[in-house]
Amino acid sequence: MQYVSTRATAESSARNPNHFSDILLGGLAPDGGLFLPAEYPRVTGAELDAWRTLPYAGLAYEILRKFATDIPDADLKALTAKTYTADVYRNARAGDNPADITPLRELERDGDKVLVLQSLSNGPTLAFKDMAMQLLGNLFEYALAKNDDELNIFGATSGDTGSAAEYAMRGKRGIRVFMLSPHKKMSAFQTAQMFSLHDPNIFNIAVEGVFDDCQDMVKAVSNDLSFKARHKIGTVNSINWARVVAQVVYYFRGYLAATTSNDQKVSFTVPSGNFGNICAGHIARMMGLPIDQLIVATNENDVLDEFFRTGRYRVRKSAETFHTTSPSMDISKASNFERFVYDLVGRDPERVRALFRKVDTEGGFDLSGAPGSDGDEFAKVAGYGFASGKSTHADRIATIRNVFEKSGLTIDTHTADGVKVAREHVRAGVPMIVLETALAAKFNETIVEALGRNADRPSGFEDIESLPQKYVVMKPNVDEMKTFIAAHTGL
Ligand SMILES: *Cc1c(COP(=O)(O)O)cnc(C)c1O
Repeated sequence: MQYVSTRATAESSARNPNHFSDILLGGLAPDGGLFLPAEYPRVTGAELDAWRTLPYAGLAYEILRKFATDIPDADLKALTAKTYTADVYRNARAGDNPADITPLRELERDGDKVLVLQSLSNGPTLAFKDMAMQLLGNLFEYALAKNDDELNIFGATSGDTGSAAEYAMRGKRGIRVFMLSPHKKMSAFQTAQMFSLHDPNIFNIAVEGVFDDCQDMVKAVSNDLSFKARHKIGTVNSINWARVVAQVVYYFRGYLAATTSNDQKVSFTVPSGNFGNICAGHIARMMGLPIDQLIVATNENDVLDEFFRTGRYRVRKSAETFHTTSPSMDISKASNFERFVYDLVGRDPERVRALFRKVDTEGGFDLSGAPGSDGDEFAKVAGYGFASGKSTHADRIATIRNVFEKSGLTIDTHTADGVKVAREHVRAGVPMIVLETALAAKFNETIVEALGRNADRPSGFEDIESLPQKYVVMKPNVDEMKTFIAAHTGL
């Protein structure tokens, strides 16, 4: 399997890495594009049949080996078996089997219209990012050991990504994590989740500033190429290809669990921010998985809903980016969206470069086909199964409330955005699977507002806020940051 960059030129494609192991530890392609397979592998009906009875780890192995062709099969089998265990994904709801890894249950039914919930949030940090990040931790450790190398992951988080990365990398040989977060700006639960880790390879750095200050520091350090190389700095942000491909697996799992034969179809609704999760759904569909619709659900930050309704992609400025009660979807631009655009414009890297240059210079592009627009590919969007909707705080509260009344389940704020939008798109005879991207306990303040009581906490999380915490506080000062990293990498 060869990989290409969405912004490749004749010259850059000769230099870009193009195998799975070579792009595993990186982010952007050197030419500024995102990596995608040169061709999507196709899945046959016979394969789908054979996969119906596989445990999750076995299914993950079958799918990953189509993308990670340069990792020996036996190694990949061991890595997936070690990752997708009932013990790692132990935080399943009462009545769900943790061995299912991503259990499904019917949420509501109205005649032939059925909504199904697929739980992706039973891992260590109670959000779907664990689905990919846990595998990434094991893949990184494996790849680094093979080359007798090490890696220092440096990132900024406002919540879910940082904790998922830390829980995936804790105790891993050859890896350290330096994670910046805005001091006293995360919820008590999120702070406790990260800061209660005492592993010697995890460094929590609380920056006296806001999330943007943290991100600016990451950018400043990353732009110092010699520092970055000397201290072996890497990232695990949502554009990482291995994260996307690990997410493809649960679309297959959801399909197989919700159907009995391959002539049936399902749809998915995905609470979306950076388009990483639903991008994996698009890839599953391109591989031949019988997906009818892929519904993008956004909150008040509706960059993606606007595109999928109008064909216009218009990134937001900081001042136009709202802080909402589904904060993991509070984005101003969708970093993985370029992967879909590449397919939409016929895999033409020159078009992609021109469109995203326009994003940089003019804040967006327009594929609606209107006079003066940048193209008419919006007409093809429905052919890829895509549609969208948006949800607001009031919708979230109402949805959490009425899901609880109907089914007795407490869903989190992001999942509530998904359910709200799913109800607008569900079709008779096609199960609509809503991806549950976090457990309610993580966003308890809003649960209290909606239901007048606390969300249940999985066992082991009862007293998390009272555990001893390990972190350092730092001013937003790049030199101080570099000194700290250098002192702890010993490089
Ligand atoms: C990250 C996250 C999302 C958004 O996922 P993307 O891949 O960025 O679209 C949605 N919900 C929760 C709870 C998340 O942590």
